[in-house]
Amino acid sequence: MKKINPEYIPIIGLEVHIELNTKRKMFCRCCAEHFLQAANSNTCPTCLGLPGAMPYPNKTAIENTVLFGLALGCKINKYSKFDRKHYFYPDLPKGYQITQYDLPFCLNGKWESPDGKFYQIRRVHLEEDTGKLQHKNIGDKKMSLIDFNRSGVPLMELVTEPSFHNPDDVLAFLKDIQTLARYLQISNADMEKGSMRLEANISLTKITKQLGIDEKNIKLPDYKVELKNINSFRFLKNAIHAEIVRQTNLLSRGEKIKQETRGYDEQTNSTYSQRSKENVKDYRYFPEPDIPSIVIEDETVAIIQKRLVESPWEKRKRYIKEFGLSQNYAQILTSDLNRGAYFEKLYRLTKKHHLNTKKVVDLMINKNYDQKFPTPQGLVLDLLKTIKTQSPSDEQLDRAVSEVLISQRKAVSDYKSGKENALGFLIGAVSRKLSGKGDAMTIRDKLTESLGK
Ligand code: ADP
Ligand code: MG
Ligand code: ZN
Repeated sequence: MKKINPEYIPIIGLEVHIELNTKRKMFCRCCAEHFLQAANSNTCPTCLGLPGAMPYPNKTAIENTVLFGLALGCKINKYSKFDRKHYFYPDLPKGYQITQYDLPFCLNGKWESPDGKFYQIRRVHLEEDTGKLQHKNIGDKKMSLIDFNRSGVPLMELVTEPSFHNPDDVLAFLKDIQTLARYLQISNADMEKGSMRLEANISLTKITKQLGIDEKNIKLPDYKVELKNINSFRFLKNAIHAEIVRQTNLLSRGEKIKQETRGYDEQTNSTYSQRSKENVKDYRYFPEPDIPSIVIEDETVAIIQKRLVESPWEKRKRYIKEFGLSQNYAQILTSDLNRGAYFEKLYRLTKKHHLNTKKVVDLMINKNYDQKFPTPQGLVLDLLKTIKTQSPSDEQLDRAVSEVLISQRKAVSDYKSGKENALGFLIGAVSRKLSGKGDAMTIRDKLTESLGK
């Protein structure tokens, strides 16, 4: 990777779209499943945008958006509404998208990064997904086909403040957002299936060295470049990096940067211009007249609040504190709800059976023992069996202990004069005599028995 000019700091703000896994679409009763379905099989006048069809909001989708917002510490707007956002594209049959403009369901959340920094989330709102275009050669003709199965599927959009400054923090955030959606079971947030989609807005600003990177000293540039249609975390990271390099080069040459939308080409690892970005005025937003405004009472919020679970970042922090895990292990174990639960049970069992917790967790993570053994009980049972078959006989143990007590007089007298940690040394010596056979607890018991304590 090319080095980035340290004089400029990148300003990055994110927009994340997550398709909700409700049974039905956002404003009609059509089935919301659109993956691997016959084209246009799940459609009706509403999601085809036929004249006179009336939208009727999906309550579960609204509740799940509120739930997601609560998990991010957002304020839930008591009064919200839907708005029409106009633009022309063939996958949008009505000529407008129903979304939320100035009164989204959720406002002002935050996320805590692994290194303890807080990032501001501006809003989480709900909208409808568009249809899907497919460009095909049929016979000798180039055709564009439209599948409206996805049209009207509930789509949640999260928007952050422009407060990220490097691709690593961006990735850590996005992975946590994906995990959160899965923890809450409101979406599988699969990037390959398009149920999670990422957009990054990037600009560069100059900093005065003495002031450093302090949010208060950062002046937002009057442009931003939007990176769109990137469908993996790795590509997004590379794309952001490539875009930072491109912008740095332009600025160093004294050139101005155009506000536009750019795509990313993996082959050349560079970004390319797609279109100039619309101005918010071009969208002609206005309140959706066919849907009354929505009131979310405190009692409703309280009921939804009951469905909250510990967030991935809270859990990561707890794993490090409570179980002494490394950042890396904590990250791995919290990125999957089931694996986390498995680990917690396993941890308690290893303590109960005096097993070497660290070694057992290593087996789970590096050797995928949690796949080999469907339950932590099974895993522990197997380990205990192995230890038993490897256990020394009583005579072997007796002999090793008495030999060590003779050869290690200094440690013995240290122990007798009250130096407890001499015992650890003696256990080690016995274990070496037995070439690693036997578990520490048994050796310890035998030693203390022989030492008369
Ligand atoms: P728009 O009105 O064009 O949608 P917003 O200000 O609402 O722009 O922001 C959209 C996204 O762009 C947000 O994720 C925000 O954090 C990000 N953003 C805004 N200004 C900048 C900037 N100067 N550089 C990078 N990202 C920005
Ligand atoms: Mg948007
Ligand atoms: Zn429909």
